[in-house]
Amino acid sequence: MNVVELADQIAAGNRRALARAVTLVESTRADHRAEAADLLERLRGLNRQSLRIGLSGTPGVGKSTFIEAFGMQLIAAGLTVAVLAVDPSSARSGGSILGDKTRMDRLSREKGAFIRPSPSSAALGGVARRTREAISLCEAANFDVVLIETVGVGQSETMVAQMCDLFVLLLAPAGGDELQGVKRGIMEMADLILINKADGELKSTATRTVADYAGALRLLRKRPQDPEDFPKAMAVSATEGRGLTQAWAEMQALAQWRRDEGHWDHSRAAQAAHWFDYEVREGLLAQLRDDPDLRAAMAERSRDVAEGTATPSAAAREILQRLGVGAPPD
Ligand code: GDP
Repeated sequence: MNVVELADQIAAGNRRALARAVTLVESTRADHRAEAADLLERLRGLNRQSLRIGLSGTPGVGKSTFIEAFGMQLIAAGLTVAVLAVDPSSARSGGSILGDKTRMDRLSREKGAFIRPSPSSAALGGVARRTREAISLCEAANFDVVLIETVGVGQSETMVAQMCDLFVLLLAPAGGDELQGVKRGIMEMADLILINKADGELKSTATRTVADYAGALRLLRKRPQDPEDFPKAMAVSATEGRGLTQAWAEMQALAQWRRDEGHWDHSRAAQAAHWFDYEVREGLLAQLRDDPDLRAAMAERSRDVAEGTATPSAAAREILQRLGVGAPPD
């Protein structure tokens, strides 16, 4: 199938074509990269937008249980849902989140759902591009909601937050001490904090945890792109399906508010600019990394700098000139 046919089939919502296209954007082969770029450029004109929701949480907190229940609820409401996973550590751990499709058994069998496990590529740069492009493909295939799941390892959350419209943090019920364990930076990214497992014996702990986080969120800097009562903390139970309707209502309310206030377009534009900048930097770094002569020159100049026979700026200037990008301004 050529790129034109692939684009047509994706535009028509064909799941198999979408799966093939995601495989294409995951490839690092130069000819595949060129095809992927062509495909994405063709699909750009469709101008379709999904609601992109980032979902983060440490392993075991209930992400896949939540996505399954939440996804089924969206499907029942007549929406289509794509689920993508970001796991930069998967190559190291040998597994991958979502790798086992049975984790979302019901959802994966739904016609309105598309579930894609994390590829085994370990480099964050590659994962970022692949995820961004996979999101674009899902949007082109006209999915209403794209959920991007990530494990709680800091860097990947920042990356996912920069490609999403909403960022949801899933936490377990816990005492006040553990609240400190959630990094402030991650709290600041969250639009909605969901305390999962608010059922059975954990129910009252969950209620207290919600209060703890609601208090902590009030202490954070108010974001201009948010209505008064956001970011919010609330309790859910993924296994019992409780709180999911309310969580979805909150997500929709926030998304609508941001659309109405112009923050949505502004944020997507800022994200696009960020990723352009990122790609340029990554491209330059890749040149340095992949060219053996440049690598050798880097190593040599690095030694000179360490030994004091060249200044860092002069040595950097020389390398940059070899890259053909000139020197940075003083
Ligand atoms: P993930 O690693 O974040 O994807 O977590 P999983 O969805 O695999 O869930 C980890 C464990 O927590 C499983 O044994 C789930 O059955 C359990 N779990 C998930 N959600 C809930 C919930 O709402 N309540 C309770 N009691 N257990 C849950």
